Amino acid sequence: MTRQPNLADAQLAICPKCHQKMRQLSPQSYICEHCQQNYREQSLCPTCGNPAQLIQGCGASNYFCPTEGLISSKKVIIHYLEKE
Ligand SMILES: [Zn+2]
Ligand SMILES: [Zn+2]
Repeated sequence: MTRQPNLADAQLAICPKCHQKMRQLSPQSYICEHCQQNYREQSLCPTCGNPAQLIQGCGASNYFCPTEGLISSKKVIIHYLEKE
């Protein structure tokens, strides 16, 4: 296992179908080059399950729940939805 401390903030996007690493196209958009499938990242609040909003800060990204407020990117639940 190789660790890359410089990428500690980057989320590792794994394809839900083939479990390979996906390539990030934009902050909430990924492509799996194995499946040739585009995915949209959807973040859910771990407490209430509502969709959380991504807030891009300088160097770090956080998520915001309308009910609970800020959520750490380590706690947020990430789903990948297939894009046509
Ligand atoms: Zn895939
Ligand atoms: Zn919430």
